[in-house]
Amino acid sequence: GGAAEPPPRLVLDLERLTQVPSEKAGPLQRYAATIQSQRGDYNGKVLSIRQDDLRTLAVIYDQSPSILTEQLISWGVLNPDARRAVRDEDA
Ligand code: C2E
Ligand code: C2E
Repeated sequence: GGAAEPPPRLVLDLERLTQVPSEKAGPLQRYAATIQSQRGDYNGKVLSIRQDDLRTLAVIYDQSPSILTEQLISWGVLNPDARRAVRDEDA
């Protein structure tokens, strides 16, 4: 992709996130809860996160950003358009 293409928004579905078993989703649940707490934003059904946060989560999950992105999309907690955020960097 070219530099003119804006990065996609990364949007977590917080309701779906509560439905994923915590042995899988626990780290992401805690990370999202921390962001909500830092923002003082507790009422949303969705939470927009930073591009950098996806990279940080990939380190936490010990996976490449693209593999983690696929996993989060398959759980239904991340918007499929988020693929564009990682497509270029680890191709
Ligand atoms: P900070 O990074 O120093 O950001 C200070 C304030 O700048 C934020 O206060 C917010 O009002 C604004 N801000 C910074 N970056 C953005 C952005 O990309 N979009 C928008 N809309 N506003 C932005 P806020 O929201 O109360 O957050 C306080 C602190 O909590 C932040 O300080 C940061 O340390 C942490 N934080 C909040 N949300 C996130 C997040 O999604 N990811 C990470 N890594 N940290 C976050
Ligand atoms: P957004 O608020 O629409 O911001 C889009 C992009 O603009 C951000 O992408 C970031 O690259 C840049 N940006 C916006 N505000 C700031 C700022 O205060 N400082 C800096 N350095 N850059 C800024 P990014 O980082 O991927 O964040 C995506 C979305 O995540 C943001 O969309 C916002 O909805 C949310 N977000 C991220 N960090 C924070 C935060 O600290 N506080 C709040 N309330 N929301 C945040």
